[in-house]
Amino acid sequence: RKPIIAIDGPAGAGKSTVTRRVAKALNLTYLDTGAMYRGIAWLVLNSGISIEDESAIAELVSQADLEFIPSSDDQPPQVIINGENVTNAIRTPQITALVSPISAYAAVRQKLVNYQQKLGKLGGIVAEGRDIGTNVFPDAEVKIFLTASVQERARRRLLDFQDQGQDNLDLQQLEREIEQRDYQDSHRTLAPLRKASDAIELNTDDLTVEKVVNKIVHFCQI
Ligand code: C5P
Repeated sequence: RKPIIAIDGPAGAGKSTVTRRVAKALNLTYLDTGAMYRGIAWLVLNSGISIEDESAIAELVSQADLEFIPSSDDQPPQVIINGENVTNAIRTPQITALVSPISAYAAVRQKLVNYQQKLGKLGGIVAEGRDIGTNVFPDAEVKIFLTASVQERARRRLLDFQDQGQDNLDLQQLEREIEQRDYQDSHRTLAPLRKASDAIELNTDDLTVEKVVNKIVHFCQI
């Protein structure tokens, strides 16, 4: 099969931008697994089911029709759930707050990991997430663990929001939300956020996106 590149790390470390660009540079398919978990959070939110009701969520997920279409050109990957295109709807703060607890459920992870492994059967992908190198593709050719300080990650998030015309956000509040999501993602029982033992750790605090992309592309060529 063609190579698989796994890019994991905590929220806001720059995974999406970097992964998209690495995929483009290497002419591989970009796989955003976070978008899949966000899609499930959207489904739960719109079903009216309590986020505490694990068995009802398991049932909902087992019956859901999920479709993820990889990005082409500058379009983000499309997320389609039960026929509805939710690509934009999964990016709200409400979904961001819900996705961690929902992604801790076994039925949710099983369904999505299965789906991701099917997509990866032939290789040729650059996948970003929390458990790609440890759990989804443990035999990936290159594994990267992207980190940055929580202050830097919050600062980047703030700039993203400002780019989207939202300037009512508070840096300290963003820091708290990021820390909470990291805590939840790294303390769950199933496939917690963790650096794979054979992953290369890259701290991006003082690196431009271009530098990070170049480093990763370089690791992929040796
Ligand atoms: O990367 P993104 O912020 O879109 O991920 C949203 C959430 O989805 C994460 O905080 C985590 O709870 C969950 N996730 C996961 N496993 C992955 C990717 C994302 O549990 N491989």
